[in-house]
Amino acid sequence: MNREQMIKENTEQRKVQVENLLRVNGLEGIKPSDAVKMAFPKAFEDLSPSAKRGYLNTEQFFNAYNLDTNGESTYRHVAWRSLFVPTEIMYAMGLLPFTTEMVASQLAMTGAARERIETAEAHNFSGDLCSFMKAVAGGVIENIFPTPDILITSTHLCDPSAKYSELAAHTYKRPEFILDIPYGLYDLATSGSEKDLARVEEGVDYIYEQLQEMIAFITEHTGLTLESEKMRQVIQWTNEARTWLNEGNDTILAERTSARKGVRELDYAANVMQTWGTQRIVDVYKSRCKEYKANLDPKSDNTEPRITWFHLRPYFKTPLMTYLDEKIDISSSQVNFAFWEPLDPADPIRSIARRTALHPAFSSVTARTRMAINEVSDDIDGIIAYYPKSCRHFHGGSIMENEMFKKAGVPILTIDGDCIDDRGDDFPIVKTRVDRFLKSLKKNPRNTKR
Ligand code: SF4
Repeated sequence: MNREQMIKENTEQRKVQVENLLRVNGLEGIKPSDAVKMAFPKAFEDLSPSAKRGYLNTEQFFNAYNLDTNGESTYRHVAWRSLFVPTEIMYAMGLLPFTTEMVASQLAMTGAARERIETAEAHNFSGDLCSFMKAVAGGVIENIFPTPDILITSTHLCDPSAKYSELAAHTYKRPEFILDIPYGLYDLATSGSEKDLARVEEGVDYIYEQLQEMIAFITEHTGLTLESEKMRQVIQWTNEARTWLNEGNDTILAERTSARKGVRELDYAANVMQTWGTQRIVDVYKSRCKEYKANLDPKSDNTEPRITWFHLRPYFKTPLMTYLDEKIDISSSQVNFAFWEPLDPADPIRSIARRTALHPAFSSVTARTRMAINEVSDDIDGIIAYYPKSCRHFHGGSIMENEMFKKAGVPILTIDGDCIDDRGDDFPIVKTRVDRFLKSLKKNPRNTKR
């Protein structure tokens, strides 16, 4: 199929797919253009920082169906992507990312995930497969997502995405590219030995070559090209956004603020966002930082324990997050940690390769736990790790992680939950565990000395 035919086919399919999406969200009969207008009652500039983040995600989500925020229609070159495929190259080439794990969380937030999961299970997807993947698999079967131009996934974070993407590539008959990321480079980078550092450089070179192949793949299948001036601009936005993100992080780790955080803070989920490389993400993290600084409250009688949050939150409706909002002060989180150095505008692809290589979560449990101990443990009272039971990656390491934190004297509560699938949600039991944990923090000598 040539490119013109693909665009024509995608355009027609996306019109049907957005109708299907509205139907599964209980909006059958509503015109897509009206649904879009309903989703954006306020202008971006008039929103709170966390609402700006939501606006950006929703806007890109509709754009992937060729719908603009004013209800008009414009064709978008869409690349389905897994969480840690770098977005800067996509934006610099004019490609719109559609991140499947993020879509699963959007389905959960609108209450539309459970039925998609059941659809996947009815089609022989295993009951204990990660629910992020399963919700999207159900959506593919029900044809509610926009047909991609291309699909790009990576073998890291998380492991099932490349497998799942193969299924989607077959279903939509669109080409797929997989970035193969070597495991454990972060371990080597922190070992300090010259031999290990040389292996890190080999890993960065290996990814660099693949990114060059990825650029050629995008051009071959979409006709889009990479312009160096655009790339420089995109890198600059990412670096600016990173600076504001870090300044906001430092502020809430070191000080109390009366600005509301809670779930909002977790929803920034900065290092998994698909908006790195856009101009508006600079505004989001800048407004967040300014909001925190404008509400510093050192004399606050706010005595809630300062908590670092690990992994993500439940995205379906549950009283848990409202309860925690009142009981804890989320002072830092794994998903808002900018783990990389600023990107180099003079050598952008190599610096993106380096960031991709050195993902601390794609390393041994020992290395990633040690990093958390070094980064935050002096400033917090404890950690809450909310891990999906089906998560091989994070839940799989929780026993060892718990032992390491215990030795370091850092209290941790691991909640066995789910982010997308609400079928096993049992708030009263989780609440009992949370209450016991929070009570133990008050008695902890390390915290009472503070
Ligand atoms: S929840 Fe765990 S298994 Fe699922 S995508 Fe995330 S890291 Fe992977």
